[in-house]
Amino acid sequence: MFSPNNNENIQECLNFISGKWEFPEEKLGQIISPFTGQILANTYRSKKTSVNSAVLSASKSQQEWEKYSYRERAAIFLNYRKWLLENLIDLAKIISNECGKLQNEAKDGLLKGIEILDYAISIQNLDQLARMTVSKGVHCEYRREPLGVVAGITPSNFPAMVPMWMFPIAIMAGNSFIWKPSEKTAMTSYYLALGFKESGLPDGVLNIIQGDKETVDILCEHEDIKAIAFVGSTPVAKHVYTKATSTGKRALTLGGAKNHIFLMPDAISELAVDGILSSFTGCCGQRCMAASVLLAIGNTQNIIDEIVSKAKNFAPGKDIGALITKQSLQKVEKAISEACLSKEQILVDGRNPKVEKEISQGNWLNPTIVDHVLPNSILAKEELFAPVLSIIRCKSIEEAMHIENANPYGNAASVFTSRGDIAEFVTLNAKAGMIGVNVGIPVPREPFSFGGINHSKFGHGDITSDGGLEFWSNRKKVTTKWFQLKNQNWMS
Ligand code: NAD
Repeated sequence: MFSPNNNENIQECLNFISGKWEFPEEKLGQIISPFTGQILANTYRSKKTSVNSAVLSASKSQQEWEKYSYRERAAIFLNYRKWLLENLIDLAKIISNECGKLQNEAKDGLLKGIEILDYAISIQNLDQLARMTVSKGVHCEYRREPLGVVAGITPSNFPAMVPMWMFPIAIMAGNSFIWKPSEKTAMTSYYLALGFKESGLPDGVLNIIQGDKETVDILCEHEDIKAIAFVGSTPVAKHVYTKATSTGKRALTLGGAKNHIFLMPDAISELAVDGILSSFTGCCGQRCMAASVLLAIGNTQNIIDEIVSKAKNFAPGKDIGALITKQSLQKVEKAISEACLSKEQILVDGRNPKVEKEISQGNWLNPTIVDHVLPNSILAKEELFAPVLSIIRCKSIEEAMHIENANPYGNAASVFTSRGDIAEFVTLNAKAGMIGVNVGIPVPREPFSFGGINHSKFGHGDITSDGGLEFWSNRKKVTTKWFQLKNQNWMS
């Protein structure tokens, strides 16, 4: 695949406007490999001129794009699906390099993105809006209409999957889309746009604007952008929601998380060990669906012992990826030391793991497990975004539920049990938008939509599947009558 590298073989993270690559206004920083500490890319900040030009291009192209039928749009999407699958391994390498996850994890993220592309392709068959005879000679129908120019702002931890939660459905619905990737992982955006262009997407329907918070604010303030979706940390999700809605935009902003797992003594050991271990270590703990608090109810020691024994044998770079930046690593190490733990509490200490010489400059933290954590400890309350599992010992499921319910977030909660009544109790009472029963990362598979509650989401509805379609479109309600009947009133 062609890549926009400069003479020093460093990628330039450019804007993509009207199908052309352009330098944004200001140099911003660099993307440093989480594995090796090498410079991978230069990043840039877009100012008003670039944003205005992207909105203008999107607006012009949208007027043509909305005239395409679903079937015509789907034909382009099918080409794109083929392109993504043909380039899957190369794309996974790029994603892995810039954000530190293992290549197979990057590949899984892409496949989940393609699942949403599949949903978008099937909208032509799924979205059969109602038409009814509502009274004699009178019909009501729904028609779906695009909003116009819409935008998506995405986080660093899933450079392909999270944007693919947004732009396939938004574009299939007939909108033009402006994507602002994370400045920490902006390299992947180039390839996703290149593939869509090569698949036949008309220029201007997908545009990329690089930048950071300043660029986000310009997007939020722009009068011609009709809707903004955001995924990232809770404080920024709140800020974007407030700013975007204050200028009359539709907004859906997904925030951070602190997810809990209820572990019962009757849990199916094999499922619990694998589910809990992979939940807090996958993507090096940098997932909004990762569980980081284990509510161990009663005697679950045999399961905890097995998790501990497996967690001690992780090889950095092979069994676990790296943290995204040096600052993230320092933040977690500080949180662990500030929690004032005794030696006995740290069942597994993943700090400063042994690594091969060629990856010695990487941001490594092996799985870390801390026992007897108090519910008000920083480890139990804050989103660390790292492979750290805090165990809170509980006497009863009610006590555990009280702890889970007190947390302000609401993305996911899981229970490991062999009892249906316990599973139902957790499903009914946990304050989270996505529940797992013997599943550590309860990400719904399409066409079940993705979305949390409380401080994990601001705005109404979910981001994928029918939630996404509702968000990125308007329903027009049409009432039709072609002839006058005798003695007819509006209810006949
Ligand atoms: P982040 O909030 O730092 O950045 C997200 C986006 O916001 C980026 O594009 C960034 O440029 C922009 N941004 C950063 N600071 C800003 C500011 N002050 N004003 C305006 N825009 C700003 O998040 P991150 O570190 O890139 O990603 C990790 C976070 O995302 C975690 O909290 C994680 O839980 C969350 N996340 C949530 C979900 C979900 O579905 N709820 C999914 C993935 C990640």
